Amino acid sequence: MATGLAGAEAVAAALRLRSRLALVTGGGSGIGRAVCQRFAKEGAAVAVVDIDEGAATETLRTLHRDHQQHSVFVADVTSSESVRSLVSQIQSQFSRPPCVAVNCAGITMDSLLLKMQEEAFDRVLQVNLKGTFLVTQAVATALIASGAKKGSIINLASIVGKVGNLGQANYTASKAGVVALTKTSAKELARYGIRCNTILPGFIDTPMAAKVPQKVLDTVLRLVPMGRLGDPSEVADVCVFLASDDSSYVTGASLEVTGGLFM
Ligand code: NAD
Repeated sequence: MATGLAGAEAVAAALRLRSRLALVTGGGSGIGRAVCQRFAKEGAAVAVVDIDEGAATETLRTLHRDHQQHSVFVADVTSSESVRSLVSQIQSQFSRPPCVAVNCAGITMDSLLLKMQEEAFDRVLQVNLKGTFLVTQAVATALIASGAKKGSIINLASIVGKVGNLGQANYTASKAGVVALTKTSAKELARYGIRCNTILPGFIDTPMAAKVPQKVLDTVLRLVPMGRLGDPSEVADVCVFLASDDSSYVTGASLEVTGGLFM
């Protein structure tokens, strides 16, 4: 006699991140918010992390709660003390370290190279590159200490880190750095079962992209074979793949989510 799972049980069994704990930085906005929402639907418990408490709380309010409980944590990814405390607060609250971390926290401070202030260069490198390093290091340390046998770290870089972009010497350098950091992390952490991958989005419809002048966006859109901006949920879809066992043999990879821009 066939003993198929019934109703709710069958749905729970099909969830791709069932029972996983995920930390998502930049969870208060744009891509990070979409990742939190998608992960919650896939059965993960989500630690929504942002420097902006109000924004993170707003994300929390939108999360699916049938499968797991979620929480907000306020942290500044540029501070090692803040990141250490973040990971220990998550461990106390959930009684385990996150086995998935998505580094979405990021900023732009654009200006042409000849006019760029040193502070703008340093700040963008601190948030985008150093922040990714600190979170990777803290999460990997906690996972290894816990004896967990697998983990997935997903870092948001950008397609412009590969090809350069006018007015973004700081941002493009930080994102090229994230790709190299991820590859080195992948090599060093593979022995612990921790996979590390990078996503290179093109132009995605978020508050960050809304800062790009319309004239520039129009020019970019003419170069995108798919002829439109990406939706944050389309980046979140790729994060689910990288966080789940569907990508169990993928590490050190850079996945472009660009609608074909600069392929
Ligand atoms: P966003 O501006 O909508 O969200 C970024 C979030 O990061 C905000 O909630 C902000 O409060 C948070 N944050 C900023 N500094 C922080 C810090 N020091 N500590 C903790 N949190 C901090 O941006 P987005 O468009 O969702 O981008 C998410 C990631 O994707 C970024 O790394 C960005 O560089 C990358 N990306 C975005 C695009 C795009 O077109 N939107 C394209 C390529 C790459």
